[in-house]
Formats: sequence, C-alpha cells, structure tokens
Amino acid sequence: MARIELRNLVKRYGDGFPAINDVSLDIADGEFVILVGPSGCGKSTLLRMIVGLEDISEGDLLIDGKRVNDLAPRDRDLAMVFQNYALYPHLTVGENIAFPLRLNHSKVPESEIAGRVQRAADMLELNDHLDRKPANLSGGQRQRVAMGRAIVRDAKAFLFDEPLSNLDAKLRGQMRTEIARMQRALATTTVYVTHDQTEALTLGDRVAVLRKGVLQQVASPRELYEQP
Ligand code: ADP
Ligand code: ADP
Repeated sequence: MARIELRNLVKRYGDGFPAINDVSLDIADGEFVILVGPSGCGKSTLLRMIVGLEDISEGDLLIDGKRVNDLAPRDRDLAMVFQNYALYPHLTVGENIAFPLRLNHSKVPESEIAGRVQRAADMLELNDHLDRKPANLSGGQRQRVAMGRAIVRDAKAFLFDEPLSNLDAKLRGQMRTEIARMQRALATTTVYVTHDQTEALTLGDRVAVLRKGVLQQVASPRELYEQP
C-alpha cells in the first residue's frame, strides 16, 4: 500500500501542446482511483509516468512522501497490468506469475516462490491451470494471469491500463466484479485507466476525468452519476 501524490505533472513529447498539463492529484493509501477520458487525452501517458516508463517533463511524483521522479520502474515497486496482458508465451501460467519474483532485484528466496504463486492463483481461481501455456487459455484466464503477476509481488500499488478492453461484455462484467473484490481484499492503492462508463461508475472510490491532458474533475462515482 502506498500514498501516491501527483504534483503539477507535465509531459511534453515535442513542441506541441503538452500531453499531460499540470496534473495534481493525491491518491490515498488503499484508494481505488479510476482515470477516464476520451482517446488521446493522456490516460496512458499519465499511468506510464507514474510507473516510470515515461520521463516526467515537469512536476513531482511522490510515493509515500518520497520523490521518485528519477527512480527506475523497479525501484518504484508498482505493478502495472497491460491491456494486451504481455504474458510470456513460452512460460507456463505458474512461471508467468512467478516471473517478477525470479528477477535478480526482487530478492525473494526460491523457497518462498511456490507458496506465493499458490496464494495468487487461489485468489484468481487459476489453480487448475498453473501448468498450461498462455496460448491454451481463454482471454479471461489470460487477464487473470496478468493480474496474478501483479499481485504476487506485494507491490505498493496496482496500475491498470484498460485491462478488460479485449474481453467480451459478459467476461468484462465478471472480471469487473473480481477486480473490485480483489482490490478490497488486498486494500492495495489502485489507479485504473478505462474508457468504459460502467467500469468508471462502479469500480472506484473516486473518478478522475482527464481531457486534453488536463484534470477536469475528480469526484466520487455517485457525484458524477447524479450530475445533470
Ligand atoms: P490515451 O491513453 O488517453 O488514449 P495517450 O496517453 O496514449 O492517450 O496519448 C496522449 C497524447 O500524447 C496523444 O496526443 C498522443 O498522440 C501523444 N503521445 C503518446 N505517446 C507519444 C509518444 N511516444 N510520442 C509522441 N506523442 C505521444
Ligand atoms: P496502449 O497505447 O495500447 O495503451 P502503450 O504502448 O501505451 O499501449 O503501453 C503498453 C506498452 O508498454 C506495451 O505494449 C509494451 O511494449 C510496453 N512495455 C514497457 N515495459 C513493459 C513491461 N515491463 N512489460 C510489458 N510491456 C511493457
């Protein structure tokens, strides 16, 4: 769990209008924030700035009060779940989930890995599939593996980039419920990018509306829903 503070963040890709323009937001420990807005408004850029995949042009990013602008992604200890899952096709489900724990810098002893993979798999109902390869899984199962890889690390926060957009409507509904349950159970700070109205209004504690790189509004789903 972590508190994440965005202080006047700016991202410039070139000379044009900034992709992220003076964005400030305090995300509390354990909070679930949904980031919404039309395509091209900067959602993905902002998420990538937080996780460290994109340099910050101006402003400060603080995790638990510590400025992390210049820290590499691995030192920020945040777990990102990508839209395209980014699973390793040659590894099994179990190996995919264990992958972040086997990286040199993770410092998790091999003797702990199996237990941790098991717990993540339990939470995501993947126990019967640990020896399968991603190619033999359904879209929903692949999404679970991607989430398993995020939760196995006990990262400080989850960052989701439109995780359900490749799933059909029925599965999306199921996974929505599951993500909400998982987030409550783990109480891990979460920033979740989506352009899906239902996800925006049902999943989070607060919704942050981004437009042309500017944070237009931050409100509870109820406040947004009851707006004229
Ligand atoms: P969203 O995720 O809301 O669809 P993005 O964050 O992907 O929006 O993009 C925000 C803006 O920044 C867009 O105008 C996009 O064209 C631009 N942009 C994103 N990535 C790059 C990049 N690597 N180089 C130049 N411009 C980029
Ligand atoms: P989109 O425009 O669909 O949101 P982006 O290109 O903005 O996609 O962000 C996802 C991309 O980030 C992935 O396609 C991948 O190339 C890249 N990426 C960077 N680091 C990683 C990583 N550790 N694991 C997987 N993908 C990564």
